[in-house]
Amino acid sequence: MTTTKLETIANAAGFDAVGVAPAVRAPHADTFHEWLAAGCHASMDWMARDPERRCSPELVLPGARSVIALAMNYFVPEPVPPEDSAVRGEIARYARGRDYHNFIPKRLRKFDAALVAEGGQQRCFVDSGPLLERDFAVLAGIAWHGKSTMALHPKLGTWFLLAAVITTLEIEAGTPTSDHCGKCTRCIDACPTAAIVAPHKVDARRCISYWTIEHEGPLPEWIRPLLGDRIFGCDDCLDACPWNRFASASREASFAVRPASQWPLRDYLKLDDVGFRNLFEGSPIRRAGRQGFLRNVCTALGNVGTADELPALEQCAINGDAVVAEHAAWAAAQIRLRIS
Ligand code: SF4
Ligand code: SF4
Repeated sequence: MTTTKLETIANAAGFDAVGVAPAVRAPHADTFHEWLAAGCHASMDWMARDPERRCSPELVLPGARSVIALAMNYFVPEPVPPEDSAVRGEIARYARGRDYHNFIPKRLRKFDAALVAEGGQQRCFVDSGPLLERDFAVLAGIAWHGKSTMALHPKLGTWFLLAAVITTLEIEAGTPTSDHCGKCTRCIDACPTAAIVAPHKVDARRCISYWTIEHEGPLPEWIRPLLGDRIFGCDDCLDACPWNRFASASREASFAVRPASQWPLRDYLKLDDVGFRNLFEGSPIRRAGRQGFLRNVCTALGNVGTADELPALEQCAINGDAVVAEHAAWAAAQIRLRIS
């Protein structure tokens, strides 16, 4: 299959960049094993399950010859701020619209069908796949490893999702991308929790994205003030990256900001289980669950809320489930401290 044909298929499936890597062992396989051994994946045990499989395409698909790396731009400019003065929270940019898990797999199936027609056998993944996809994006020549650990594309910056297609087809590989971070350390300097413990190394145990999305149960006291107004994920290391000045709006309408991600914080506190599920139907925020999300909302209110939020928090401290109630009580105490 020619590069031009591959680009045509990728473009038709909604991807903004495509490249091909040889199906070799991932160059950062050993680093990944060390990172796991140091416990930097926190409670994300799924990452440590069969780690060598994540490094070796051949273990995922016997007979693998190539790995196709695909990037989809998800950048959506900041929405116009609502006119009222209610306190709102920050949601990571990728999570403000529709969950990409709901539509990228369908696009990959189209991609797969085109490669089957060429005689290939494939395994396709987006994000959750058992592969160090960033390594293959670098080998394929569409990105380099940023010091933030995110992959960087010269035009898309960091605002893209990566998908990978392992195939038995032998396709001519691209030229690996060289590192363009240079002496820049803006992402490291911008991280509010010092989670980027060294260039190219994030310790999830310090990362706000981990605590607000992946962690279940109460948040430890030390991280709560560091969350600021963030209620799902964190983009600080991405916002700081100078390569993002080239970002342009995604052509994918699914990433458009949903009104549900712009509610005043105190209004989220009224959500019961059904209300939460309905509001965030098809949104990545569902991943946190109602308890995790309201826990984050309470924490953010503790950091940025005003006396106006006290009645809703006090109600939540009585009626919420144990985790949410404890965070609501903590938040109310923080606000009282601020206004006293
Ligand atoms: S997502 Fe936030 S907390 Fe995590 S490394 Fe980036 S800036 Fe730090
Ligand atoms: S902020 Fe600087 S060091 Fe960090 S990923 Fe961007 S260019 Fe690289």
